[in-house]
Formats: sequence, C-alpha cells, structure tokens
Amino acid sequence: MNWLERDQNSIWHPFTQLLNGFEHIMVEKAEGMYLHTPDGRKIMDAISSWWVNLHGHSHPKIAEAVAKQASNLEHVIFAGFTHSPAIELAEKLLSILPKNQSKIFYSDNGSTANEVALKMAFQYWYNKGEKKRKKVIAFEGAYHGDTFGAMSVGDRGPFSAPFSPYLFEVEFLPMPTAENHSELLNKFEKILHLGEVAAFIFEPLVLGSAGMKMYDASFLDQLIEMAQKVDVICIADEVFTGFGRTAKNFASDYLNHKPDILCLSKGLTGGTMALGVTSCTEAIMEAYKSTDIMKTFFHGHSFTANPIACAASIASFDLLVNEDTQSKIQEIGEWQTEFYHKISQHPKVQNARVLGTIFAMELKTESDTSYVNEVRHKLYPFFLERDILLRPLGNVIYILPPYIIKKEEIEKVYNAVEEMLETL
Ligand SMILES: *Cc1c(COP(=O)(O)O)cnc(C)c1O
Repeated sequence: MNWLERDQNSIWHPFTQLLNGFEHIMVEKAEGMYLHTPDGRKIMDAISSWWVNLHGHSHPKIAEAVAKQASNLEHVIFAGFTHSPAIELAEKLLSILPKNQSKIFYSDNGSTANEVALKMAFQYWYNKGEKKRKKVIAFEGAYHGDTFGAMSVGDRGPFSAPFSPYLFEVEFLPMPTAENHSELLNKFEKILHLGEVAAFIFEPLVLGSAGMKMYDASFLDQLIEMAQKVDVICIADEVFTGFGRTAKNFASDYLNHKPDILCLSKGLTGGTMALGVTSCTEAIMEAYKSTDIMKTFFHGHSFTANPIACAASIASFDLLVNEDTQSKIQEIGEWQTEFYHKISQHPKVQNARVLGTIFAMELKTESDTSYVNEVRHKLYPFFLERDILLRPLGNVIYILPPYIIKKEEIEKVYNAVEEMLETL
C-alpha cells in the first residue's frame, strides 16, 4: 500500500468529507515558508497552516528549545507542582498583555482557552452568589472553537446544526457594520439592562472563520464600555488575532477599554505545539479566593502547562518581540495594503479589506458570500496547482503569511490571485 491508501484506511481528517476518498497531500518536511512533499514539490504556506505559524516552519530556535526541554523535563502534573517554563512564559505574556491582566491559566488549545474563559466567568457569578446572571452575548457568525461551550457561543450555522439541541442559550448580536451601529447599540443596551448578562464574548476586530470579516475598534470599545459599566465580564477571543496578526501584539491594543479575560492559542507556540492560555484580571481572581472548597475553579487538563509547549512558546515569544520581526510585521502590512489598493476596484472583487498582516477579499459569484459557496472547489486546487497553499473560506480569499515571507514570495501569491481573477 502507498501512503495515500494507508492514510485513507486509517485516518479520519478534520473538516473533510469522507465520501470519495479525498486525496491528502503528504508532507514529509517543512522549512520556513515551504511544505515539502515526497515527490519533490515545494508548496508555499500562505495561510500559516490554519493561522498558527508565526516564524516559518521548523524554526531552528523553537526546535532547539523543544529538544532541550524534552530531555530535561517533558511533563509534570500542574496541580501541586510548577516549573520554570510555565512561570517564565506567564511573566512574558503578562509583560505584553493589556495592563489589567494579572494571571495566566493554561490549557490545551483555542477551544479550551474559550471554555476556560466562559467557565471562569460563569463561576465568578456563582461564587458571588449572583443567581440571575446566566445570559451570554456573542456575535452572529462568531467562531470560538469546536467544543460544546465554544460552539454554543459561536455561529449557529451548518457546522453546529447537528448539535443545536445541546447548546446553551445565547443572545446573538449582528456583527457591527457601518450601517447597523445605532440599532446594535439599542439592542445591546436593552439586553444589558435586564441585569441578567454574565459575559460578552467576541473576536476583537476580525471574525476569522466567518470569512475574515472586519469591524471598527472604536465601536467595540463602546460596547465594552457599556458592558463593563454594568459589570458584565468582557471576553476577548484573541486565539486568532493575537501575536501581531493585526500589526499590534493583540487586537485589544486598539481598544481603550480592555477586556476582563483574553483567550490565546494558535500563534502562542509559534505554531509548533498545542497550547492555550486564558488570562484574567485580579478582580476575576478575587471571586475565587475563599476557604470554601465550592469556590475552587475545578478545571484542568492532563497536559495543562506542558513544559515542552511552554518552552516552544518562550522561544516564539523571544522571536516575536525581536525588532526585526516587529518591523517585518509592519512591512507585510504595507504590502498587504498596497495589494488591497490595487485589487479592491477589480470588477470581480468585492469587500476587499486589510488589517495588519491580514488581507481578505470576496470573489463576486452568483451565490452569496459563505463558507459553502461552491467556487471554493475551484479556488483551492487553482492555487495548489501553482504550489501555493491558500484555503478560501467559500468565496473569501485571504492571505495570512508567517512573518518571514519575502517580497518576491508574497508577490507570487498576489500574481496568482490576479491570474485567478482573469482566468476563472
Ligand atoms: C481557531 C480558533 C479557535 C479554536 O482554536 P482551536 O485551537 O482550533 O481549538 C477559537 N477562536 C478563534 C477566534 C479561532 O480562530
């Protein structure tokens, strides 16, 4: 049997239809911008492998940190014990997180970071003896992960339809647009006014999975201000937007009113290992300081604060705050903005947008913009045939490179997009 057959015989891949045996591409090595296949192809990873990779694949500094950690302390139970990679990483993260953030809670991935945030917020009110606050506010189309709590506060669409009877109730607001501000503010005010809201959860400035939909920082600022006035806990899901994607360390850095809780993952380890972080303010912590055992936060995973993942994160952090990386992030932002200006008026393009290193545009088609838009089935292979990995969300094409992409490499991606517009 060849690799392909063995893969099909033994593995169930995520987000993949099982009928007709989808042919997965074998990757035997990855380095910098490129995925290498056994038949000698070099595919450029222009979406940072599902938005996780910051510094290129198999980065020597991260690899070295992982190897060193693995041979010294691979893992230890994190209840009753601690270790320096966890402490060092927590201190580093707190040094760049919004100043109101005071503690780091570790988990395994983006979904668990959001589960922890929601549970932290719910139990905050439970510990305070506040029984009325059960509601959560979230944005329509949001994506916070694939576990049940995360699904509950996310888009009620095709992905979550089979599970809808099992998801808890959420008040959904439309994503802010230039047109709906006053309507949205009214609705928000009305829900807040009931005094039953525990938390407001949002992807700050960019709804990633919804198709890189972007909205205004000043408007989100206003919503957070209103929510915090009535003590609603504001949760920023920065799993995607964190670590420079928006040209600042965090999307929350664009806000004057800082969230109470932040969720991080994806770029946290530079895209090397699975790790999640939920940070919170001192005020959230306070509600858990008690001799009453029932006020303990009973949440933890076997691999909480895995030392190897923390070591990868520390190495990635040091690369991220390096001046060269910081100026590269700005440079990528400039290239993306130039391309945005070049392409936005193209007759087949609508709603082109850019924020920091994130560029997105919609291909005009007969059907609506959505994940299930059929044109995706032409776009994905079109770019792959040119050895470029872009993974359009329906008819939304986005470019999200690691922070090491060279000018001539991103130009190759831009040229392919332009070629697609002329030929498809
Ligand atoms: C990817 C993503 C998640 C889920 O993270 P996983 O590590 O895939 O569980 C949550 N929130 C946002 C905004 C994301 O983009």
